[in-house]
Amino acid sequence: MTNTVASSTASDADFDDMAEIRRLWAEEASLAGRRLALVGAIAARRDATAADDDTALLNCTTVLGAEIAALVAVGKEAGAHMVDLAADARDRIPAVAAALRDGVISLSTFRAIALECAAITDAEIMAAVDAEIATDLRAGGAVSTGSGRDTARRFVAEYDADAVRERRAVRGKGVNVTQDGDGVALTVSAHPEQVLAAAQAIRADAAAQTCADDSRSVGARRADLAIARLTGGAFACDCGNPECPASTSADEIGDRFSRIVVHVVADASTLDGESNKAAWVDGYGVIDAHHARDIAARPGTLIRPLDMSAATARPSDYRPNAAADTAARAVHGTCTVPGCDRAAWSSDLDHVTEFNHHRPEAGGATCPCNLGPKCRLHHLIKTFVDGWLDMQVTDANGVIWTETITPSGHSVRARARNHWLLPGLGLLPCRHGAPVEPGVVDPADAPVRGQSRTAAKHAYRMRLRSRRRYAVACVQAAEAVRKAELECYGTEPPF
Ligand SMILES: [Zn+2]
Ligand SMILES: [Zn+2]
Ligand SMILES: [Zn+2]
Repeated sequence: MTNTVASSTASDADFDDMAEIRRLWAEEASLAGRRLALVGAIAARRDATAADDDTALLNCTTVLGAEIAALVAVGKEAGAHMVDLAADARDRIPAVAAALRDGVISLSTFRAIALECAAITDAEIMAAVDAEIATDLRAGGAVSTGSGRDTARRFVAEYDADAVRERRAVRGKGVNVTQDGDGVALTVSAHPEQVLAAAQAIRADAAAQTCADDSRSVGARRADLAIARLTGGAFACDCGNPECPASTSADEIGDRFSRIVVHVVADASTLDGESNKAAWVDGYGVIDAHHARDIAARPGTLIRPLDMSAATARPSDYRPNAAADTAARAVHGTCTVPGCDRAAWSSDLDHVTEFNHHRPEAGGATCPCNLGPKCRLHHLIKTFVDGWLDMQVTDANGVIWTETITPSGHSVRARARNHWLLPGLGLLPCRHGAPVEPGVVDPADAPVRGQSRTAAKHAYRMRLRSRRRYAVACVQAAEAVRKAELECYGTEPPF
């Protein structure tokens, strides 16, 4: 710690610049929202004075879109899209548009939400869904495009299941070829669970049929394998080694296909048909209740009830039991780092506070309250990068939150994406104490050889972590006191 002064100066500058980046990011969203509002206002004025002829090719939307496009030099399609989006902001999802202007969501998130709502035709339902989405966006901490889309999809599915169902049928299946200047792509459109299973099969098969000496990139191996399978061609490792270890028997291939699993999380009431509560497909996101029931009814679907009380049993083991593993992945849905959409079942399950292998009862618990999925990169970053910390907190309503603290000293909070799907999980009593001696990560396990990471830095990380936890506990305690006072006196302080 000889360079304390230098490093603290650098980190102050980092902190300030990062704060400015966050501010500008929100301001960009806000500016985009204001731009849409202006486009919407012009459209409304012109619509009001236009001749009532909706058969005209050159209607207001087309002309206004073309005009804006010419003035900012973008394509006419982009201009027309802007006018459509402005109409959505003005007439269909004004509360979500307000969240955009307030910098709560980005323009791409707004766009994704508008698209999810496109099938709603009833004005009252639209208004209710708009209000629900906006309230949820504002209450959930950091919102990514993926999590915003899921929020919208959930409320649309629950308020207007028929619209979603029709849209699912209309969107349909198909095989398309698309091309741009650089290449050509084959797109297979099918149900998400079918596409996900196919993608898993391609990845697993390509990995098993090639060895480390194959000259192709991972992507190229998968593409070659998929094309070979579709056209009846051959696929093999190109290492040229007659002893190539990547030769797989037909039995092994069959065994591997039998282990391809797409996880769907649904409430029992959804599967029974008692409710239209939405469900979740790992690697895809929210699906409507009908879709969940369709999947459940298919041959080959295995339904396993989740025993929530088992999820918190035996927290002294390093490996979570099946219930805890499932519950932790299901409630988060994806890697817990804000913005990361890596599927929960394709992620590592991380002990947020490190497990202590020597004294399990003293370290971070193997309990859903302390387990969160992390993609491999975020898991490595969290484990080995100084100053990168995370915490998992369960609030008074049983909602699980993740707080990610980055090396610049900024932190961002996000609610567990699927908190609505497993609302009882965070209310289960934990069968363990608070961590008093979290496990210590061996720096020798760091992915890059020679990366120095001293015990002092680790201790610093632990101190900071416990300080943050203490601060959160204080906030929660204050909140609990405030609530209790509110119940007693029925008014906000001062009394
Ligand atoms: Zn080989
Ligand atoms: Zn991640
Ligand atoms: Zn716990």
